Amino acid sequence: MKITRRGFLTLSGAVGGGIALSSLGLNLNPTRAYADELDKMNRVKIAKQTITTCCYCSVGCGLVCSTDKATGKIINIEGDADHPINEGSLCAKGAGFFDLTEANKHRLTKVLYRAPGGDKWEEKSWDFAIPRIARLIKDARDKGFVKTNAKGELVNRCETVAHLGSSNIDNEECWLATAKCRALGLVYIDHQARV
Ligand code: SF4
Repeated sequence: MKITRRGFLTLSGAVGGGIALSSLGLNLNPTRAYADELDKMNRVKIAKQTITTCCYCSVGCGLVCSTDKATGKIINIEGDADHPINEGSLCAKGAGFFDLTEANKHRLTKVLYRAPGGDKWEEKSWDFAIPRIARLIKDARDKGFVKTNAKGELVNRCETVAHLGSSNIDNEECWLATAKCRALGLVYIDHQARV
């Protein structure tokens, strides 16, 4: 059975509070999501609002960050309509800012490792991950390091490691990642902002 929000409100008023609508086979999920959104809008209205600037690229779009005064937690991040550059709009990266906060239950908070050929993720520590990443990069680089080209000119480049990313690092982190890649001699370097 399909029902619009307006129809739902009419129907729910008609049947009264004593009947569980879900027991009639109605899908209440869209209505619950709508109610949650209304609740969030009301909380945003009374939240502490802080203006800031998106850190991801040199466009420098303005953001409004809403913080719940009681809990101190961020409850919303959106484009600043009064900002002269973006006038409230955001690209996909900026629009995803709120998902980086702890409100996102799916945000990764620990190291997950899947062994080569494996089909299971294991929880590991950074003490395990960092030396392993370094070892693999070193081994791959040693295999594909080219000191001179066909003409005998010094090139010092690594052709067996590529770097892609990341969509969630800021300008300064991008600089750091690029400097690290260049120091390793990488020539295949790309970033989602370009893609
Ligand atoms: S990454 Fe997107 S939202 Fe952020 S400043 Fe650049 S264009 Fe604006």
